Amino acid sequence: MEFELSTEDRMAIDSLRRHVEAEVLPKIRPVWDKAFPPELAHELMAGLVDYGIGAGWLPEADGGLGLSYLTSGLLYGELARLAPDVAGLAYVSEGASMKLSRHGTPEQKARYLPGMSEGRVIGCGAVTEPGAGSNVRQLRTRAVRDGTGWRLSGEKTFISNATVFDIATVLARTGEKEFTIFILDRAEHRFETREIAKLGLNGWSFGSISFDDLGIDDAFRLGDPGDGLREALSGFERARAWVAVIASGIARAALDDAVGYSVERDQFGVPIASHQLVQGILADMACETEAAMLLTLKALASLDRGGRADLPTSMAKIYASEAAVRVASKAIQVHGACGVTREFPVERHLRNARMLTIPDGTTQINQLIVGRELTGIAAFLGASRPAAPTRTAAE
Ligand SMILES: Cc1cc2nc3c(=O)[nH]c(=O)nc-3n(C[C@H](O)[C@H](O)[C@H](O)COP(=O)(O)OP(=O)(O)OC[C@H]3O[C@@H](n4cnc5c(N)ncnc54)[C@H](O)[C@@H]3O)c2cc1C
Repeated sequence: MEFELSTEDRMAIDSLRRHVEAEVLPKIRPVWDKAFPPELAHELMAGLVDYGIGAGWLPEADGGLGLSYLTSGLLYGELARLAPDVAGLAYVSEGASMKLSRHGTPEQKARYLPGMSEGRVIGCGAVTEPGAGSNVRQLRTRAVRDGTGWRLSGEKTFISNATVFDIATVLARTGEKEFTIFILDRAEHRFETREIAKLGLNGWSFGSISFDDLGIDDAFRLGDPGDGLREALSGFERARAWVAVIASGIARAALDDAVGYSVERDQFGVPIASHQLVQGILADMACETEAAMLLTLKALASLDRGGRADLPTSMAKIYASEAAVRVASKAIQVHGACGVTREFPVERHLRNARMLTIPDGTTQINQLIVGRELTGIAAFLGASRPAAPTRTAAE
């Protein structure tokens, strides 16, 4: 087991950091309290692909860099430390390009992957609906055969990249228990998208997509009819590891800021870092951050080995996303009142971290996955809704 970064990985991380500090942060800082406008999102993506972000996972045959998940995760971790909103934008787009790479027809790949590998085409994945969150099988978006094509109706919500994407992979019901993925192309299809204001990660677009009786050619079906649910669920493994990567990056940023502040700020005639209780807070933060990173690296290494990686990716997702919230909250404590003001970065870390215990399986859903892997017993279904109490004659 090797805990040292290779020279190549270190150089790649350093050059990404220089690019983000010089080209990304100056552009996003003035506007990152609202979703990046589409032009800025595209400019950021196009600038990042050369640094392994946005098309790193795509095989070289599809125009990507063919990076391992481990190397890619190290790069995304650095990006998330500096600009987690941008990391979110890019990993969601990269997830859509992977679906095309794995299941696209030669025509679909030729149409979309060159643009995605150059960062010109932004993707997203639309599964969640107002009535279908943790239980994907409850989704109501429906695609009905219409001659050689389909008619698609439904509403997707809480979708990352909703107002900036060029193509969305949309999971729809095509039969009683059959689900299929379709490609929604902003240049081809008519649909509505709306941004939803949220707590943190505000530069990262998040919103709804709605379409009503939309005619869609069969050429936009991705994969075979009925394969959609399996493919969507398998994408969640990768996505969980990436949420853990972003959460670990936010935790690192919060730790760095807290350490920096603790040696600068004087109280009782000494830096607050020389008070033992402050060092205790910092030590707890460092342990949680390191544990989150190690679980995340293990999850990435499992993805690289191939096969199912439910256990390590769910463990990393649970721990890193919950730890990032605790670490960011402790960073506020170290900063005192400054920590809760918008003049210091740490309240932003807390708001950003707080977003991540929910997507790609809430903490509770991932606990159920870990529980199932440990025991062989799936405990996803709770007791059914109790019947309304029957009235007695006295009432
Ligand atoms: C930042 C962010 C980005 C997102 N990006 C996307 C995206 O790109 N594409 C997309 O399709 N979706 C996306 N989502 C939506 C996300 O996948 C859903 O929010 C998530 O699956 C939970 O669904 P829900 O919000 O409807 O909560 P619900 O499913 O209604 O859950 C509410 C609460 O009940 C708990 N709960 C539910 N079922 C159980 C159970 N069986 N046992 C125990 N507890 C349970 C949950 O843990 C939670 O605490 C995103 C969400 C966020 C916050």
